[in-house]
Amino acid sequence: MDQDDDPKDTKDNPWKQIGRAKVLLAEAFKIHQRLGEQLDQVHRALEKHPTKGQYASRLLQFFAANWEKKYAPQKLAIANPEKEIGIWLRLMKAVPPAELCERVRRYFKQTDEFIVSARHPFGLFVSRINDLSIEASAPPIPIGCKHQPACRDDAVHTRRVLTEQRNRA
Ligand SMILES: [Zn+2]
Repeated sequence: MDQDDDPKDTKDNPWKQIGRAKVLLAEAFKIHQRLGEQLDQVHRALEKHPTKGQYASRLLQFFAANWEKKYAPQKLAIANPEKEIGIWLRLMKAVPPAELCERVRRYFKQTDEFIVSARHPFGLFVSRINDLSIEASAPPIPIGCKHQPACRDDAVHTRRVLTEQRNRA
């Protein structure tokens, strides 16, 4: 038997090639699976980061959810959702989205008669948007404080009153 005829030693050995092809295929499947997992991860990551329009839509739903919590079992009727989403998009240009959520919460804590009898309408929220900022919602000055400038909180006011009494004595 000539050595060239020994199938094990030739590159053209079809069994060996099939064996290698199967190994390559198995590796390719693994890569394919890993790629699929990576694509899933990217997909999930993107889902967590909505587009501006999606975020505006979520804000609309968030507002409605707050409204319905307050006025349950009534449902908030939104006559023109697309128009409201447009308004939310405009608000998002001026105020960060997370802060908008906070302002919605603050809005629904407002209890003045006008707002309650109007049932916390969206339009009023929009017109009050600046009054709902953290600075504007700062706690009121301490009771009985007539200082100029007004004391920041009760503790400051009490300290000031005690100092004044000591100075008078
Ligand atoms: Zn004071």
